[in-house]
Amino acid sequence: MIAKRPEILSAARCRLGPAASPWSSLQPVEGIVSTQYHYYLMFRRSWFTFKIGAACVSLCALMLLWPRCSDAQSDPNPQAQSQQSPQQLHVTQYTLPPEKLAKAEALYRTRVVLYLIDLVFGILVLWVLLRLQIAPAFRDLAERVAKNTFVQTLIFVPLLILLLSLVSLPIDIYGHHVSLAYGLSIQSWGSWFGDWCKAEALELILLVPTVFALFRIIRRSPRRWWFYFWLLALPFMIFLVFVAPVVIDPLFNKFEPLEKTDPQLVTAIEKVTRRGGLNIPPNRMFEMEASEKVTTYNAYVTGIGASKRVVVWDNTIRDMTVPEILLVFGHEMGHYVLDHIYKGLAFIALLMLAGLWLGRRIAIAFLGRWGAQWNIRGITDLAALPVLMLTLSLLMLVGEPVGNAFSRHLEHEADRYGLEVTHGIFPDNGEVAASALQKLGEKYYDYPTPNRLLVFWSYSHPPTADRIRFALTYDPWDSPKGPKYVK
Ligand SMILES: [Zn+2]
Repeated sequence: MIAKRPEILSAARCRLGPAASPWSSLQPVEGIVSTQYHYYLMFRRSWFTFKIGAACVSLCALMLLWPRCSDAQSDPNPQAQSQQSPQQLHVTQYTLPPEKLAKAEALYRTRVVLYLIDLVFGILVLWVLLRLQIAPAFRDLAERVAKNTFVQTLIFVPLLILLLSLVSLPIDIYGHHVSLAYGLSIQSWGSWFGDWCKAEALELILLVPTVFALFRIIRRSPRRWWFYFWLLALPFMIFLVFVAPVVIDPLFNKFEPLEKTDPQLVTAIEKVTRRGGLNIPPNRMFEMEASEKVTTYNAYVTGIGASKRVVVWDNTIRDMTVPEILLVFGHEMGHYVLDHIYKGLAFIALLMLAGLWLGRRIAIAFLGRWGAQWNIRGITDLAALPVLMLTLSLLMLVGEPVGNAFSRHLEHEADRYGLEVTHGIFPDNGEVAASALQKLGEKYYDYPTPNRLLVFWSYSHPPTADRIRFALTYDPWDSPKGPKYVK
């Protein structure tokens, strides 16, 4: 679904965006408007997370970008639209009215620039950090203070991660500024910063034991640690996915059972779940109070096993017609029924295995070449953590299009499922889907004709224009083959 801390950055990564929480990027979620490949990012931003950007360079970039963004006026009264009952739009293709198109184009450019800054400076900052021997200084301090390796990690990791977070804070702040300027977010700076702090704290709580375990394994088995660490990381990752909707999400947003907030909608949804031959119990359907923080629409599936659930944002329910909501729900149900969370987890596990195997080799090569110059004793040295982070971030740069291609495939199948499962429940469901997608696109100022290379590299969902075209033309019911999922 949503975006990461600099909402606008993730919006660049795919096309839609604002986060309900800075933490949301860490969640394994399959949404209707997901802004990035969540499993991928969960990995990217968990133990090897580094919110990046050289402070000075990003500040220069921000100064260049600021005036353009300020031109974009936010909707003076975003709540005003909600007073009218929602209407279905007549859509034949994805287009925006001229005023929105101009904003969408400006926002698109901003997102692309921020996306590139995020990519390039992430790597540059780590490089500079290594050149300046900052990690060895933190390591020396930790070793002076304590003999115990866990205590050393407890000192080293927060120092390193907070430094990296602070360096990237200007980008995060700018991202929120843009979201406010375009009316995507209405979250106050105080609340936003509160979320930022919570996300930092959570990150450290997860990172300290992870890094401790990583270096313990590296020291025990310098040749095979990549495999043992992967084995250990898998159950940890699954556990995180399991607890995220119950423990982590409520830290940032309020959730109510849909049965309580909108029982009529639950009744309508049950028609769809019955049509799909599936029983999603009403206690697995939630409404999220997104309207406290953002103006945008979304819905997503999250969790596994007993915590698996469908979540719909209140904005979506407020501004969409019942058939449109059912289509959105049908898409989410597709993720649920087609086990996209599990498939995503399996996919990320494979990428992780390959990344760790290759990462070890590259990190050792880096250390052989520059280790002495960087004052790092070897791969078993805690100060080698930024080297591992650098290696992984380089690999992820290459892996990003692979992850996104997989995500786009899942999203396309969820769109197909949504159309099939709502077929016959109400008339012209392709047109209803097109209307829902048009509303999503307009709300996020989704640029109608993004660069194809950017789509290939960074979009977690197919472009809106493609999705609308598919919705309007998908008609398997008269063909001999018939529908793929819901017969
Ligand atoms: Zn989706």
